[in-house]
Amino acid sequence: MDQTLQERLHLVLEQQRAAFRAEMAPSREVRLDRLERVRRMTAQHSEALVKAISADFGHRARQETLLADIFTVESGARHAQKHLRDWMRPRRQPTALHFQPARNLLMRQPLGVVGVVAPWNYPYYLALGPAVGALAAGNRVMIKPSELTPRTGELMAAMVAEFFAPEEMTVVNGEAELARAFTALPFDHLCFTGSTAVGRIVAQAAAQNLTPVTLELGGKSPALVDRSCDLKLTASRIAHGKLFNAGQTCVAPDYLLVPKDMVEPLVQEIRGAMRRLYPKIAGNPDYTHIATPRHLARLRGLLDDARAKGAKIIPSHEEKTVGRGLVPQLLLGVNEQMTVMQEEIFGPLLPIVPYVEVDHALAYINRHDKPLALYWFGRDAAMREHVLSQTQAGGVTVNDCIWHLGQEEQPFGGVGASGMGAYHGEFGFRSFSKEKPVFHQSRWAGTRLFFPPYGKTFDRL
Ligand code: NAD
Repeated sequence: MDQTLQERLHLVLEQQRAAFRAEMAPSREVRLDRLERVRRMTAQHSEALVKAISADFGHRARQETLLADIFTVESGARHAQKHLRDWMRPRRQPTALHFQPARNLLMRQPLGVVGVVAPWNYPYYLALGPAVGALAAGNRVMIKPSELTPRTGELMAAMVAEFFAPEEMTVVNGEAELARAFTALPFDHLCFTGSTAVGRIVAQAAAQNLTPVTLELGGKSPALVDRSCDLKLTASRIAHGKLFNAGQTCVAPDYLLVPKDMVEPLVQEIRGAMRRLYPKIAGNPDYTHIATPRHLARLRGLLDDARAKGAKIIPSHEEKTVGRGLVPQLLLGVNEQMTVMQEEIFGPLLPIVPYVEVDHALAYINRHDKPLALYWFGRDAAMREHVLSQTQAGGVTVNDCIWHLGQEEQPFGGVGASGMGAYHGEFGFRSFSKEKPVFHQSRWAGTRLFFPPYGKTFDRL
């Protein structure tokens, strides 16, 4: 590996670590100021971000960038500013009777330098979102954007350099070699967002340094439609959740599980909803493109494979795909031999799997990797509770898609193959902190009873 690249990265890390050690526990004012600079930086460069992300994607709907990359970072920073005093406060913990009158306190301390590895699909939010939690917790931050969004990566590097000293927060850009060197650094914590396959490699690299990791990974997130649902509403919300960012969302509904006799009417409703949301695909500024020619070819490959193996493919629109604006496709008659039912789709393809008994649908979900998200649509409360208790997932939205991700008061993260650890709001603050228990012994201490000579004290324990 290129020695100078390794050395350069180590140097940045050491600068940050030295600055951290000199400061150790930044005051609330210092942290508020850093969060304020994240907000100012985001607001000041929002138009440039809209342009850069769109250029990287070929086309990214402006409103999708404003909502999912800009607003998310601003509101996350605002939420952290508002709650920082409470989050930083040491917690008084109970003390067992035989240790009283001593006191237990739980201190929340920054870890040091946090590394953040971001994917391309929400390139600003998934870099700065974790950074907000890490800065609030009092850490220094090094960010590595995806090489697939180079314009956004360069812009972020310039923005962060304008608003932050390199030893506070910095962005490093590069290709695959840099990604490997970055994740091999002895960070105090590493937050990786990306695919499950790369997550495994990153976890191994971090293990060499005993660096704790938060892994925000992907997978196939099912949407389970119950026969008690409102069909029209369900269809329009699935269509929106699937087509936002053209399906290139970690929590997009990957495939549907639908009562057999409802498949036909639901397909019609979803097609109708997709056409209402996007009256046309080609040249529609609201419809985001597939990020790269390679990703488009992969999605076409999934369709060809499914078609060859007998799937029926129904386009949402009577249009041909132009460039990378891929016309959404619904897939019927799918099976597990098709790649589309094995890999995370990450695009506007929607397979529909019929079920007869709901427990068969639950068994299908539970036979596969634990998903990042699960969606349930229906009005039958007993059934809803049955599904919630009988499935595992990183998070759930009931009667809609995606929105659980926007909750700052709830942890966001996967389980099993969809990831480990969580962030957002106070959960991020805690992930990027050491919760250090401190036992304050009192002058008169019951623990004297446990000293030798032992006599009969222990016989009664
Ligand atoms: P990816 O795993 O290919 O890349 C993610 C990051 O890892 C990039 O910065 C890349 O440069 C880096 N990387 C690639 N190879 C590496 C290696 N060998 N060592 C170290 N780093 C390496 O993922 P992607 O294609 O950018 O993003 C799509 C995936 O991310 C999907 O699976 C999606 O579900 C997932 N995702 C998850 C979340 C979440 O919050 N859980 C959010 C968005 C995306």
